[in-house]
Amino acid sequence: MHSFKNYINGEWVDAVSGETFDVLNPADGKIIARCAKGGRDDAKMAVQAAKNAFYNDKNGWRRLGVQTRCDMLYRLADALEKEKDSFARAETMDNGKPLREAIGDVEDAVSYIRYYAGASRMPGGASYEVNDGFGPMQCFTVKEPIGVCALITPWNYPLLMGVQKIAPALAAGNTIVFKPSSETPVTSVKFFELIDKIGFPKGTANLVMGGGSTVGEELSSSPDVDMVSFTGSTPVGQGIYKNAAANVKKIGLELGGKSPNIIFADADIDGAVEWAMVGVFFNQGEVCSAGSRILIEESIKDEFTSKLAARANAMTIGNGLDNPDMGPLISKSHMEKVLDYIETAKKEGCRLVCGGRRYTENGCGNGYFITPTVFDNCPPDCRIVREEVFGLVVTIQTFKTEEEAVKMANDTEFGLAGAVFTSDGAKALRVVKEIRAGIMWVNCYNPAFIEAPWGGYRKSGIGRELGADGLDEYAETKQININLSPGELGWYEKR
Ligand code: NAP
Ligand code: MG
Repeated sequence: MHSFKNYINGEWVDAVSGETFDVLNPADGKIIARCAKGGRDDAKMAVQAAKNAFYNDKNGWRRLGVQTRCDMLYRLADALEKEKDSFARAETMDNGKPLREAIGDVEDAVSYIRYYAGASRMPGGASYEVNDGFGPMQCFTVKEPIGVCALITPWNYPLLMGVQKIAPALAAGNTIVFKPSSETPVTSVKFFELIDKIGFPKGTANLVMGGGSTVGEELSSSPDVDMVSFTGSTPVGQGIYKNAAANVKKIGLELGGKSPNIIFADADIDGAVEWAMVGVFFNQGEVCSAGSRILIEESIKDEFTSKLAARANAMTIGNGLDNPDMGPLISKSHMEKVLDYIETAKKEGCRLVCGGRRYTENGCGNGYFITPTVFDNCPPDCRIVREEVFGLVVTIQTFKTEEEAVKMANDTEFGLAGAVFTSDGAKALRVVKEIRAGIMWVNCYNPAFIEAPWGGYRKSGIGRELGADGLDEYAETKQININLSPGELGWYEKR
C-alpha cells in the first residue's frame, strides 16, 4: 500500500496533526493508499508558502518569464504523457471508471497543459483610442496574474478536473494551493511528484489533502488567498461563494446540473438512443453535464424507451481494470444515496423500466455497483426529476409541442448543459437559443473540447473553464494610461 504526504513549499510533509486517511478502491472496497490528512494548519502553511512565492521571491514563478514558464509546463506535459499507463491504472483503481476512459482522461490532461503553455504566449490586453481632451494620451491594458489561487476539485475526473485548473492558473503566472477530493487523491499526488521532479520554484504549487470542512473552508475564507476556483456540488459552492466575499476573492464555480436531453419525433431514433446512452451512463453517470432528463416527443416514446432499455440491459458491469462498459460508483455512501433516490422515485409514481438494483454478480459483491437505471412516467415534481442524482439514473418525460419541450427543459434551477435531437436544423437552433444553459449539443451528447469555454448558467456556476476564457479567469486586467506630452499643462490646470 502507498503512503502519501502533502507537498508544501517544495517539501513532502506529514499533516501537522500526524493524522492520515485511507483511500479505497470502489470496485472491491480494499484500501489502496494512506494519505496525510491535512487540516486548517496545513492549509495555512501552504497558503503562506504560495503567498511568499508570489509576492516575495525575486526568482519566483511569475518573474521567470513567460518562455521559461511555458518550457516547464511543456516538460510537465511530456512527463505525464510518458507515465500515461500508470496514471490511468491508478485513476481506475481510485475512482472506478473503465481503464480506457481513464486513459482518455490522462491524454486530455496532457493536451490541456500543452494548450495553456502555448496560450500563455499569445497576445493579451488591448489598446484603445481615447478622448484626447486632456492632451494626447495612450490607453492600453495588460494581463497580470491574480496571486494565490486555491483550487478545489471533485472525484469524478480526479486528475482532469485538477489539471483543468492547475494548468491555466500556472500558465497565467499565479501560485497555487490545490485540494483534491478525499475520495480520489492518488493521481493528484502522482502529478505533484512530476511537478517536484521538474523543479518549479519552491511554493509555486502546493498540495494539501484533507476534508472540505477544514482544508476547503480555510482556503475559501483565508484573507491571503486571492482567488478560489471550485468544481463540485451546488450547496458546497454556495458556501465557498459566501466565504470568498470576506476579502472579495475572485471566484470560479463549476457546479451541478440536471440537464435536459430533448428528442423530437423527426430525429434519427437509433442515433438518439446511442447518444442518450453516452449522455447518462458514461463515467457511471457521474458527470456534471449528464443528460439525466430525457424529454421526448410523445409519439416516439415507446419505441425509444424500449430501445434504450435494451441497450442499458446489455451493458457490462465490472472492475474498471477489465474495461467493462461501466465500473462501480465512487463509494458506499454514494451508492446508498443513488439507491435511495431509486426507491423514492418508485414511491413517487415513476415507472422503473430497467436497472434499479445493486449489482453483486461476477465478483462484484464487495464493490459499489448499480445496474443502469431508466425511469418512465416521471411526474415533474418528483425528486429524481428535480435533484442531481450524479449517477446512472435517467428519467423520461414526454411533450407534445416545441413550446412545451422548451418550458420543461428550463423548469430547473440548474443551467449547465443540454441537447436537442431533430433533423430540422432551424428547429434545433430555435430550441437551443431558448434553453438557459452554458453548453448545448445538437444530435450528439457530451463531446467537450479544450478550445471552447465550459461553464453553467443559474445555479450551475460562475465563470468559464477551458479555452481562452479559461486562461482569462486566472488573470487580472490592468488599465494603463500614458500622457504623451508630459511637459505641457495638465488637464486640471486647463479646466
Ligand atoms: P462536493 O461534495 O461539493 O466536493 C467537491 C470538493 O469540495 C471536494 O474536494 C470536497 O472535499 C470539497 N469540499 C466539501 N465541503 C467543502 C467546504 N465546506 N468548503 C470547501 N470545500 C469543500 O462534490 P463531489 O461530490 O466531490 O462532486 C460531485 C459534484 O461536482 C456534482 O454536483 C457535480 O455536478 C459537480 N461537478 C461539476 C462540474 C462542472 O464542470 N460544472 C464538473 C465535475 C463535477 P472532501 O470531499 O475531500 O471533503
Ligand atoms: Mg477511491
